[in-house]
Amino acid sequence: MKILLVGAEAAPFIKTGGLGDVLGALPKSLNKKKDVDARVILPYYKGIPQHFKDQAEDLFYTYVDVGWRHMYAGVKHIYFENVHFYFIDNEYYFNRDGVYGFYDDGERFAFFQQAVLEILPQLEFIPDVIHVNDYHTAMIPVLLREKYAWIDGYPYINTLLTIHNIEFQGQYDPATLGELFNLSMDKYNDGTFQQDGCFNWLKSGLIYANKITTVSPTYAKEIQTPEFGKGLDSILRAQSSKLSGIVNGIDTEIFDPAKDEFLFKNYSLKTVKDKTINKLELQKQVGLPVREDVMLVGIVSRLTYQKGFHLVLEQMKEILNWDIQFVILGTGYKEFEEGFSWFAENYPDQVATIINFNLELAQRIYGGSDLFLMPSAFEPCGLSQMMAMRYGNLPLVHEIGGLKDTVSPYNPLTGEGTGFGFKSFDSYWLKDVLASANLLYNRDQEAWKKLQKNAMEQDFSWDTASLEYLNLYWELN
Ligand code: ADP
Repeated sequence: MKILLVGAEAAPFIKTGGLGDVLGALPKSLNKKKDVDARVILPYYKGIPQHFKDQAEDLFYTYVDVGWRHMYAGVKHIYFENVHFYFIDNEYYFNRDGVYGFYDDGERFAFFQQAVLEILPQLEFIPDVIHVNDYHTAMIPVLLREKYAWIDGYPYINTLLTIHNIEFQGQYDPATLGELFNLSMDKYNDGTFQQDGCFNWLKSGLIYANKITTVSPTYAKEIQTPEFGKGLDSILRAQSSKLSGIVNGIDTEIFDPAKDEFLFKNYSLKTVKDKTINKLELQKQVGLPVREDVMLVGIVSRLTYQKGFHLVLEQMKEILNWDIQFVILGTGYKEFEEGFSWFAENYPDQVATIINFNLELAQRIYGGSDLFLMPSAFEPCGLSQMMAMRYGNLPLVHEIGGLKDTVSPYNPLTGEGTGFGFKSFDSYWLKDVLASANLLYNRDQEAWKKLQKNAMEQDFSWDTASLEYLNLYWELN
């Protein structure tokens, strides 16, 4: 089975979010399986670390037509951790600071997608499946059928499109069909490529891809509703027979409390009492009173409305009447940074706020906190809640998207669960569930320890997730 993953980023070469994680970890895990050859193509950005650039081997170059432009496309190669990574090099498009957000992103990724399909014969790698990701590569399933079907072997290639973020769809002027792809207006005029008067790449890809996935089963259902579908819900409903959700994994080698170099003391399920040492040291580091007998709530996040922190701020004064501590690490919107900083100044015995991006402190918060707060308004998958559970830190989440699929809320009748959840996106319910969690922490440590054990025993490895992808690839063939 030959699989080509194509995307705008892949860790550890270049990463701005979850997409980069997936394109780094999934092929590595797929290639551990028998008879699978998964490779990756991405742009050769300026931001790729120099030590990788030094390893990159120049394979060949060609020219790609982007409308009337005749553009150079160099092909570089790095073999890394059992995976062949290919890079498309063009200094004009990719030798810039940053990955996205340029006025000509449409032209840059129109070039990239056409370059991918034009170099495969010369690479001598004609895949069984091309797995494309997000709008930057969503036109590949279209181009494969409408522009490059004449290439030997191409009619047999099947495609899978994964939606990591439905918010960005690649909406362009209809004239760019000809100007960037040399395609006629026919499919725009009959409505296939059109959405709200724009040429919409993601919509086009959804129609042409043989299968569609998103990063959790619940989010796969949610995006078929007007509330979460960002205008594409009716298209997704129409395509629902080919749509499914697969939860991302986390790198269980990096996020492992037994090995994590940033922790004050390593621990595992067997030695979970050593988690307390991490809690006491964390309190000391962030300037909170050092106390074992108070529930320490951790937050590590982008501080945005998506992550639901307005609900927390709304109730914070009341919550701080209880015996409870907070450590908050994040950056984001000013109102949240200032809001949490205000509480740190005014309640120094209960709240520590660190406005920063700090991987070391993040790990210490996963390791040292008792409860991890993640009340996202929407969450396609979410990684932090999985990391928290792996560190025996019980997540309290809004039960939507990937949070619903990965956290099983505490059931007081059976004592089962791996965290806590609230259903209605309302600060009252968040406070209510947080109060119950605090009560359980203070009154019933035995029940708490059971939840902690359940959480730490969950399997969030990529090996499980990649098996699900592999099954889908097989279904396509
Ligand atoms: P999203 O990708 O929507 O921001 P995820 O939960 O999928 O949310 O992933 C967020 C990742 O970024 C987690 O690994 C989290 O630990 C990390 N992170 C977020 N904010 C910070 C920060 N201020 N410092 C360190 N790590 C952070």
